[in-house]
Amino acid sequence: MKAIIMAGGKGTRITSVASDVPKPMIQIEGKPVLEREIECLRDQGFRDLIITVSHLADTIINYFGDGSRFGVHIEYFKEETPLGNAGALLKMRDKLTSPFLLLNADSIFDINFNRFVGYHQKKGGLVTLFTHPNSHPYDSGVLIVDNNNAVEQWLTKEDERPQWYANRVNAGLHVINPAALDMSDIDVEMVGTEGADGKIIKVDLDRQILKPLCGSGKMFCYDSPEYVKDMGTPDRYETVCTDYSKGLVEAKNLNNKQKAVFLDRDGTINKHVGFLSNIDDFELLPGVPEAIREINEKGFLAIVVTNQPVIARGEATYKQLQEIHNKMETLLGLKGAYLDGIYFCPHHPHKGYEGEVPELKIECDCRKPKPGLILKAARDFNIDLSQSWIIGDGENDIRAGKAAGCKTTLIGVGNYEQDKTVESLEDFVKCI
Ligand SMILES: [Zn+2]
Repeated sequence: MKAIIMAGGKGTRITSVASDVPKPMIQIEGKPVLEREIECLRDQGFRDLIITVSHLADTIINYFGDGSRFGVHIEYFKEETPLGNAGALLKMRDKLTSPFLLLNADSIFDINFNRFVGYHQKKGGLVTLFTHPNSHPYDSGVLIVDNNNAVEQWLTKEDERPQWYANRVNAGLHVINPAALDMSDIDVEMVGTEGADGKIIKVDLDRQILKPLCGSGKMFCYDSPEYVKDMGTPDRYETVCTDYSKGLVEAKNLNNKQKAVFLDRDGTINKHVGFLSNIDDFELLPGVPEAIREINEKGFLAIVVTNQPVIARGEATYKQLQEIHNKMETLLGLKGAYLDGIYFCPHHPHKGYEGEVPELKIECDCRKPKPGLILKAARDFNIDLSQSWIIGDGENDIRAGKAAGCKTTLIGVGNYEQDKTVESLEDFVKCI
């Protein structure tokens, strides 16, 4: 599969870090960002690259040449006039005969590309967006998906958004089928020429190519906890350098074993109110966002595992539960904390109640104290369970954790042979 790297951006906000080099050539630990990206692709078998260049193009071309020095083959598409970030794609449409990766050289990433591409193939859409939760969803654009992860709405940070929304942010990495480029009515011949208003006609990828696919069922989100960060400002650049030196960037690649903190929901994250089915009853416990933020910063995945028999009992629908989880993510996001996954068991074993959903009244493998939810998350995210924790306020959490092979922490009182006992999630994060 071909990979196209968009390296034509100007990088005006980062000129205080390095004013004479194009953004993709800015060094992190002595190596240009773009070189790190190329190595990451090469090591996973992506060796056929096209780099689109404009601003200070020669610096990039002179350094990478035909790519042979780096074990890859590189072609360049040089923009003489700025075409917008998707103009080049339309201009080289003939060369694009099969799905390709489209990556942004302005961000630093280290991800499992084959897993990403595999997901795209499984979904069978025209476009797959790499999406992730971040620590500032309130001032980021967010994507709203249906229950098949197809994009329904693409909200920019300026757009009005629902009160509660999932923390799902576009990271600027894509798998694209060339047919997606043919769906707009842009006149390719005119791109790069002067329009009627005297301005050069450009093409914007997000606005003109991708956003129109919302609601078509042909564009999907690939949710991943891997490291992708924009380094467009001096502050963000600083953060990326620190993360690199700590080994965090590579560690989060899902090719590598992950460590996780599995979090029970009711009584651990939010106030225990019995069977919670009314969204107004959902309230975070004090100190929880700060604690989850620390879990995020320490390089653990934060994954909720929760029994929600309210679904089987007919007290809440999947949609209502989703809305409650959106509220949880929104409230956490406002304090800079995020979850990497939410796994719930909708089942309940005892039949014969009014209003219940009969097909969910079963003995399943996922209801804690069974370890099914944890084991599924471990498969999905390549988690080393022996390096991971479960924390919860009940015996079921401890037993599920033990059955899965995790270290265990109980909030509150009781002896279920847990490894640790604490008073709150906040107490727990101090000791990991
Ligand atoms: Zn279950």
